[in-house]
Amino acid sequence: MLQTEVMLDWACCVCGRPMGATLKCEGPGLADKDAKAYVKVPCPSCHHTNQVIFSPDDGALDDVFPDEEPVRYKIPVPSYN
Ligand SMILES: [Zn+2]
Repeated sequence: MLQTEVMLDWACCVCGRPMGATLKCEGPGLADKDAKAYVKVPCPSCHHTNQVIFSPDDGALDDVFPDEEPVRYKIPVPSYN
């Protein structure tokens, strides 16, 4: 069983205060070099949930976005007048 522990530090995507978490990851997906892990962490300052995408391989942060946002990437819709 593959297992890794990563320490993440980032700024809360809602209030901007620094926060962090130590996360344990395990599973066969870790064998994948481009594996991404996903976790929800509540901010200790504003109590909003941060959704964090990171690489369990090296603990690099990939993306942080608020829990209220259902779609990860907003696709701009062109408008024609
Ligand atoms: Zn916050």
